[in-house]
This record gives sequence, C-alpha cells and structure tokens, in this order.
Amino acid sequence: MSAEPLTVAGGARVEAARRRTFAVISHPDAGKSTLTEALALHARVIGRAGAVHGKAGRRGTVSDWMDLEKARGISITSAALQFEYRDAVINLLDTPGHADFSEDTYRVLTAVDAAVMLIDAAKGLETQTMKLFAVCRHRGIPVITVVNKWDRPGKDALELMDEVSERTGLTPTPLTWPVGIAGDFRGVLDRTDGTYRRFTRTAGGATIAPEEGLPAGAAEAREGEEWTRAVEESDLLAATGAAHDQELFLDGVTTPVLFASAVSNFGVGALLDTLVDLAPPPAPRPAADGAARDLDAPFSAFVFKVQSGMDAAHRDRLAYIRICSGVFERGMVVTHGRTGRPFATKYAQQVFGRERESVDLAYPGDVVGLVNASALGVGDTLYADVPVTYPPLTTFAPEHFAVVRSRETAKHKQFRRGIEQLDSEGVVQVLRSDRRGDQAPVLAVVGPMQFEVATHRMEHEFGAPVHLEPLGYSLAMRTDAESVAGITASSGTEVVQRSNGEFLALFTTKWVMRVLRENKPHLTLEPLVAAQL
Ligand code: GDP
Repeated sequence: MSAEPLTVAGGARVEAARRRTFAVISHPDAGKSTLTEALALHARVIGRAGAVHGKAGRRGTVSDWMDLEKARGISITSAALQFEYRDAVINLLDTPGHADFSEDTYRVLTAVDAAVMLIDAAKGLETQTMKLFAVCRHRGIPVITVVNKWDRPGKDALELMDEVSERTGLTPTPLTWPVGIAGDFRGVLDRTDGTYRRFTRTAGGATIAPEEGLPAGAAEAREGEEWTRAVEESDLLAATGAAHDQELFLDGVTTPVLFASAVSNFGVGALLDTLVDLAPPPAPRPAADGAARDLDAPFSAFVFKVQSGMDAAHRDRLAYIRICSGVFERGMVVTHGRTGRPFATKYAQQVFGRERESVDLAYPGDVVGLVNASALGVGDTLYADVPVTYPPLTTFAPEHFAVVRSRETAKHKQFRRGIEQLDSEGVVQVLRSDRRGDQAPVLAVVGPMQFEVATHRMEHEFGAPVHLEPLGYSLAMRTDAESVAGITASSGTEVVQRSNGEFLALFTTKWVMRVLRENKPHLTLEPLVAAQL
C-alpha cells in the first residue's frame, strides 16, 4: 500500500476554484468536433498523449463504439475530456451531435457550469441552436457564444448580433470583433484592449498558434479599411451598451461573443482564455431539500449519464458522475443514495472516446466514469459520510411510443435484463401496465432514433432480438392513481406507469386530451417537461 497522502493541500474548495466544467453545444455541423479537437490541441491533455487524434482519426476517436453509430456517422456517446490550461483544469463534456439524442445533451447540461454555443457564420441560429439556448436559459447556465467558420462566406457580423439578441433575448457582448468580412478573415479586434490579433494561415490548421498580436497603429497600416471598419463597428456596439458585464453574464442576461475558425485553430486560444477568466467555477450544488452542500463537505456526486457496451471486449457498464463536493479518491467506498448500499470505486476512470485511464483523485466539477456500475441509474446520488440527495434529473415528455416484444420466447431473461438496463440508462423510457404485462412493455422516446439504438442493443448486447410495434400515441401527460379509471373509460388513451411509479396518460392527439379534460375536469392531467422547447 502506498503511504502517500491522497489529498493535496487546499482540498476541494481550492481545487474546485480552478475547475471550469463546460460543454460545447450547437446545431449539428457547426463545428463542435472540430472545435473540441482544436481545444485539446491548445491545451495539455492531462496524463494522456494522443487521446484526441488528428483529423484523419477524428471520426474514429469520439464515437465508434457502436456499429450503428458508424453506419450513420453520428456520435451518440458522451464522455469528458480533461486538460490543463494556464492554472486551470478544464473539463470539457462531450454531447451527442444528433438532434434525436437531445435528451442526452440536456442531461449533460445538468453537469456543467457553463456552455459554449457554436454558431455557423453562414447559417446563423438554427433549430437546435434555439432549443439549446432555451435549455441553458431554463437551467441558468451562462453561455459563451462562438461564431465559427468566419473563414468562409457568411452573414454580416452586426446582423448576426441582431439575430442573437432578437431571437434569444440574450444581449451579445462581443469580446472580439472580426477584421474582414466572413470569407475574408484577417483577424480580430480584441475589444478588451483595442489590439489586433492577426490570423496567420497555416497549412491544414495543424499548428497551435496561427495568431500574431499587433497594436492598433500597426493593424491600421496593415489592414487599412478593414481595420477601420472593425473599429467603427466595435464603437457602434459600445454605443449600444454591448460591453461585457460579469454579473449580467452569470445571470444569463448577456452572452460574450468570439469570432473563430475552428478548422484553422483561430480564436481557440481566446476561447480558452475566456473560459478561464469568465466562466464560473463549480458552486455548491443545491440538494433536493433546497440546501446547498458546501464544496468542502464530504464527497458527493450525481450520475448524469450511464453507458454500456462501449467496448465489445469488455461488456461493461459505465456510470458518469459529476462531483459536487469533497475529494474523490479512487478505492473509497461511498453510499449509493437510492439503495443505501455501499459502492466501491475501485475502478474509476476518465473516458474520452475509446481512451480510458484510472483516476486517483478528483474534485468538484470533475467527471469520473465508474466501471461495473450496474446498480447506478441516471440521476442517482453517491455520497460519503454525510447523506445528501440531489434532485432527480428531468425526464422529458416522450413523443413516440412502441410496444416491444422479444422475437425469441426462450430469451425472456435476456429480454427483461436488457429492457431494465435501457430504462435505467435513460436510453428509452419503459412504460408498463397490468393490461400489457411484463412481456410487452411500451417504450417511449423523444427522438425516433432512440428506438434504433434500443433495438440494436437488445439484439447485439443482450442477445434478445426484439420486435417493435409502433403505437399511435403522440402525447403523454402526468396523472395519478385516482384518475386512471376515468381516463381509460374514454377511447384514444391508455394509462401506463414509469419505473418510478409515476402514472402517464397517453393520447393519440392533443385534441383527444383536451376533450377529456373538458368533459372530466376533476381528472389529473399535467404536462411533462417538453424536450422540444
Ligand atoms: P459538428 O457536427 O458540429 O461536430 O461539426 P464538425 O466539427 O464535424 O464540422 C462540420 C464540418 O464543418 C466539417 O466538414 C468541418 O471540417 C467543417 N468546419 C468546422 N469548423 C470549420 C471552420 O472554422 N471553417 C470551415 N471552413 N469549416 C469548418
């Protein structure tokens, strides 16, 4: 046994203060994967060389744990990349790219302290951009906005700012301003000190610093009219009050904006500086009873993501926890809040894509992957010494429903185990009723592609091929035991139960629900949180 002390001087509070835990979010194709790589390139990836590969290996690193992902070229998995930058420790949480997995993205957003919103300079605000802005506002997550792909023709910068403020309600406060229109990216005016950061193109964007700092005078001599125009536009912004204010940013009133070209690594250093200087460190997290647990309190964390079958060779189940308080030491035995049972953390890992490595120590804001965590479900709390329960994660209103049956009757054990696992991972919601029985529960999802994932995993991971029979429902409302009889008496509805015991009434159309509510106003029918905000 090692006699080395496991905790460092200063402990959880000091370590938490230098953490920045965030996610990059965007509409698909805005450049999230490209930016993630560029960020890692700029920083020292802790204890790990080659965790994020170069461009050629890119698609292979982040998301090839499942054939389905490969076939569709989408990233479904989610993990965290940790790296050091200046004096800070940055935790970058990965989010799935496809809109059908937005529920996963929303769960990841419960584990971050800030978000970086990427906008494609040519496309501006897209559907998913708008939804994600809404989720951040709802959750009180401060957002740093990055206008990406400025090296390509796109919209006018001032128009983009108008679009952000008009459509999201957030006041954009650009920290940098582009010199040269989209497609003619010369560099940026640093609005914090009036200097010029010139963009120096490098082949393939492979090197770290394609930037050169110049004072304003030299910038004017070099860029002429383009510089003057940038200064004028920046002054115009200043006149309309578009200046950074830390309190307004943290309150979700404003969003600092940076202009970048992730593919050429330009603007990436500025983004890291912004994260370190402006993004908030972990704060004490409010528990279910409303009291916030101090950062220095004994260890506590919650599970925000559960994942299985990442590695065909090791049939395992990983639970990702976000640490909220105290110091995590690998090997410590903690309590699993929901069951009250001890949980040994012997196999704690950091995971990004396929790379894994043991974690010995972790602090508030950090993400740890716990291996063989078959008992842990999404939203569960883990703690040491002093009990705490963090609020359950929001389960979104499903919009697609299908009955699932095993294609092979002999496989009923595998079928049951698989269904239970998919439910606790939150891949699908499993809805049951006495009428339908245990052999044919209802699967409910937000995005139809979740059905594909479930079907694929049932067959390949649990050895229980299934058949899905779509149901004609499109709406679920929360109800209670007293209302069940009254609801099921009408047609176009049925009542089922979530695994947490909650009753859901399913309706073919909104209209059917409204008629029922008008005819029987005493029935309980409450809306669920919509994922399609
Ligand atoms: P994601 O779906 O958001 O992860 O987007 P990707 O990172 O896969 O990028 C989508 C496409 O945009 C890829 O072809 C990238 O090479 C390209 N791309 C990303 N960033 C930039 C950029 O700054 N400039 C240009 N011109 N292309 C970019």
